[in-house]
Amino acid sequence: MSEVLDRIWQFQQVSRVELVEHTGLTSGTITNLTAELIELNIIREFEAVSGSVGRRRVMLGLDTNHYRIIGLDIGRATIEIVVVDLNGTIIRTIERDMSDRQGPEQYFEVIGPLLSETKQEIEQAGYVILGLGASVPGPMDYNTGNLLDPPNFPGWSGFPLKRTLEERFGMVTLIEDDARTSAMAERWYGLGRNVQDLVFITMGIGIGGGVVSGGKVSRGTNGLCGQVGHMTIVLDGKICDCGNRGCWETVGSIPGILGRWPGGNSMEQLKEAIKQGDSEALRCMEDTLTYLETALINVYNLYDPEMVVLGGRLYPYLADYLLPVRSHLRSRLYAFAKDRLRIEPSTFGTSQSAVGAAALLFGFLLSEPVRLLSLAEGS
Ligand SMILES: [Zn+2]
Repeated sequence: MSEVLDRIWQFQQVSRVELVEHTGLTSGTITNLTAELIELNIIREFEAVSGSVGRRRVMLGLDTNHYRIIGLDIGRATIEIVVVDLNGTIIRTIERDMSDRQGPEQYFEVIGPLLSETKQEIEQAGYVILGLGASVPGPMDYNTGNLLDPPNFPGWSGFPLKRTLEERFGMVTLIEDDARTSAMAERWYGLGRNVQDLVFITMGIGIGGGVVSGGKVSRGTNGLCGQVGHMTIVLDGKICDCGNRGCWETVGSIPGILGRWPGGNSMEQLKEAIKQGDSEALRCMEDTLTYLETALINVYNLYDPEMVVLGGRLYPYLADYLLPVRSHLRSRLYAFAKDRLRIEPSTFGTSQSAVGAAALLFGFLLSEPVRLLSLAEGS
């Protein structure tokens, strides 16, 4: 059933005949499995007009009328709650500034009422909630669902996030590092539908990354896979929070960039100074792009992705420079691979990691639909 559902997700609209072709299952099996999925309200039939003769065909796609997923992004300065349907379409989003709050207790004073209200509203409208996904600065212990020691996030070390959310809100709950959920948003709902290998890089206060390899998100032994922000870029550079020296994050994140420019203290000011032709500002941006290119070359040579997706609050300030960055990268890559270079902006902008948190549950639905539905309806 999972295989059939996976194909329906991938193709978005597909006929039973095409499902037989793509899965190698018999038409009888496809008829039975799709009937079960329709019965479970996970997929539904569409009527599509196809071909020059205008013949009507029955197509199958995800049913967006029955289930909702809640995504919660817990960030260092904001929280965001999104409600999505099975296609990842954002139905609702709520964002709150948290820069004057610190630690789980103060955060939950805000998160608690918002999540309860959101849950109630969805249920009153007649939808079934599949669960709650939460993204949070890593690292974390995946066995217990407790946070480890997230840098620049005082008060959260050891916090039992998964258990707290489960107990307080009574929903099936999954948690993941925020850079990795950003990659998952792209994998399940964005550009990754037909891409098996991609690297998502989020650039803001820090620089994080998520690696999708062979269609699966890689965690590594300690949950540190894809920590591209901590690759060494400056050999004798500044000490980083991770303990290493000269990490990309120390020079390429928003604080890293502004730390190299004495002329102001915001990216907006830097952008304006570049526009005015200020030579220090121009040099700061040139260096930023050199670091970015160096980091991207390393990412390409290490992970060999089909696509690199760039997101985060810094991205809009770098978007105008992507053309030269691409051409510099081409000149430094293996000759046979350089024409396949793809760098794309993220699909969900500032909501990326919240949508990705919801995508955790979607991934669960695709792999074990019956189990998730029974858990969701039991909770
Ligand atoms: Zn570091």
